[in-house]
Amino acid sequence: MIDKCFQCGICCRLFLVNLSEEEYRSGKYRTQFEEFGLIDDFHKATLYGANTLKQKENGECIYLKENTCSIHKTRPQVCREFFCTSKLKKFRYMIEQIEKKRTILEKEKEETWEKKKFPKYKY
Ligand code: SF4
Repeated sequence: MIDKCFQCGICCRLFLVNLSEEEYRSGKYRTQFEEFGLIDDFHKATLYGANTLKQKENGECIYLKENTCSIHKTRPQVCREFFCTSKLKKFRYMIEQIEKKRTILEKEKEETWEKKKFPKYKY
């Protein structure tokens, strides 16, 4: 299968996005702890997690809007490299997490459908 994005948005909700040193220094991206300014020492920034993209209160990426990436053309390198259809070993764990989440969401969707369809049945 060719690497492909199904735009489910699950990965943009599940994982922290690490910026490269160049991306972090560019100041183009909203980052965790941005209110304190950029940290000069990139190694220190990575230790604090300051080089990660900012998240909304619900944990999703700040750039996820209506289930799509609002900065698609300029998204960080890691977002360009990752696809949940990838066969690369380095992504195996992440893909497993996405599949688990997808199963949970599908189950929740089914239960919601059943509750709407059969409201008097006790679950
Ligand atoms: S930058 Fe875009 S592709 Fe990357 S996690 Fe955020 S919304 Fe998803």
